[in-house]
Amino acid sequence: MKTILITGAAGFLGSHLCDKFIDEGFKVIGMDNLITGDLKNIEHLFKLDNFEFYHHDVSKFVHVTDDLDYILHFASPASPIDYLKIPIQTLKVGSLGTHNLLGLAKAKGARLLIASTSEVYGDPQVHPQTEDYYGNVNTIGPRGVYDEAKRFQESLTMAYHRFHGLETRIVRIFNTYGPRMRLNDGRVIPAFIGQALRGEDLTVFGDGSQTRSFCYVDDQVEGIYRLLMSDYAEPVNIGNPYEISILDFAEEIIKLTGTDQKIVFKPLPKDDPMQRQPNISKAKSILGWEPKVDREEGMKLTYDYFKSLTKEELERSEH
Ligand code: NAD
Ligand code: UDP
Repeated sequence: MKTILITGAAGFLGSHLCDKFIDEGFKVIGMDNLITGDLKNIEHLFKLDNFEFYHHDVSKFVHVTDDLDYILHFASPASPIDYLKIPIQTLKVGSLGTHNLLGLAKAKGARLLIASTSEVYGDPQVHPQTEDYYGNVNTIGPRGVYDEAKRFQESLTMAYHRFHGLETRIVRIFNTYGPRMRLNDGRVIPAFIGQALRGEDLTVFGDGSQTRSFCYVDDQVEGIYRLLMSDYAEPVNIGNPYEISILDFAEEIIKLTGTDQKIVFKPLPKDDPMQRQPNISKAKSILGWEPKVDREEGMKLTYDYFKSLTKEELERSEH
């Protein structure tokens, strides 16, 4: 049985990755300090013999007794309100945390995949974004703590790959959504759904002309799995290229939820990227991957998840 360590295991993407690798017959070791995650996302795995959990901050020295075949480094705050609240931890987990995991991968002879992001492109001047675009990031802006941590993470990973010959993979994840997102994490999908469930107006930042391209979590997980199993060490974009403006998206949510909420406009946060759409030619040609779940289907599944939460869970998710 192959063993994989997944950091950020109690978070949104990490918990779905734990499920995927359990299904594929791996022993999964989840690690998380629960700063933005929730054990509820993985509590169904605790009864399994091939799942183990370490409550640990990966920015501190990481020790695992098992031999490891693979490591997925997904620990990091991921939503703008989270990383604005905990900027130093965000910088540390992307830099020191990544360094610890690269060291662990080297010691164990494991292959390491890091979760990078479309944020390495910043507010992009190339559209759609291809992997060879260097990006447009404000290093000292409020979002810089996340973007630069991820850019440093990529540099450090490539240095270990080139200098130590470590087997590494880099996925640049574009906005991904689905069940187990936190209702209060501030990202646009839980924000709009939460507002619809509470009967509040939908808050569109700016004039809503900024665009995003939303990928359903099952597609994202499949892309990450294929990249890990590939022999390709350079960054690969994984996302759904179907682009929509935030204003049109708010209108879609009102239709989906069947509510009669109004849209209200709030100031656009500083350095909020104006457009974002992945070019996925590399993922298609190298991994044979492309998204299968369209937004209508994915959003329905996501809305059903939030509706299925008990009142107590909804309240917990709001704090
Ligand atoms: P999330 O907040 O749901 O999950 C992150 C998890 O990491 C949480 O469980 C948190 O407690 C844990 N964590 C944070 N710092 C830690 C530390 N120092 N030590 C141990 N655990 C720590 O976010 P997510 O959306 O699941 O994102 C997971 C990863 O994917 C992140 O690295 C993020 O940058 C990346 N990513 C996500 C998206 C997306 O759209 N969801 C897009 C781009 C990149
Ligand atoms: N956004 C919005 N209203 C909200 C939350 C977010 O209009 O209540 C906008 C935000 O300004 C951004 C887009 O939705 O333009 C996506 O934001 P999110 O935080 O989900 O992700 P990111 O900006 O990191 O892509």
